[in-house]
Amino acid sequence: MGESAVENCPFCGIVSGNVSSQQVYADDHVLAFRDRNPQAPVHVLVIPRAHVGGINDPRAEDGEVLVALIHAANEIARREGIAESGYRLVWNVGPHAGQSVFHLHLHVLGGRLLGWPPG
Ligand code: AMP
Ligand code: ZN
Repeated sequence: MGESAVENCPFCGIVSGNVSSQQVYADDHVLAFRDRNPQAPVHVLVIPRAHVGGINDPRAEDGEVLVALIHAANEIARREGIAESGYRLVWNVGPHAGQSVFHLHLHVLGGRLLGWPPG
């Protein structure tokens, strides 16, 4: 895992507190905050505190951090009241998936019926 903040990375800015966010969860490994352009009634991003470029970055394959991200996502779903109705966890990778921020983030989406296949 990366050791320090990456310059001009918006999510490293959120971790360091230089960029404001609506935080909903934090633990030793991860932070979670509301997406500023929500695509569903619940739309939260879960990120590692340490910079990793995306789920395709070899450093993402650190079991401890992946487990922490997934654990946090499930806990957030419970806190947001969508654990029973259901939710979607998404990792966007590269241009066709529309990845726009290159600091690993897991989308937690719910609170409405989510279409499949995704657009
Ligand atoms: P992706 O397309 O998977 O790279 O998604 C990046 C997401 O980050 C988008 O849904 C943006 O709306 C969201 N986003 C970017 N900057 C911020 C920010 N400062 N605070 C909250 N959400 C952000
Ligand atoms: Zn970063």
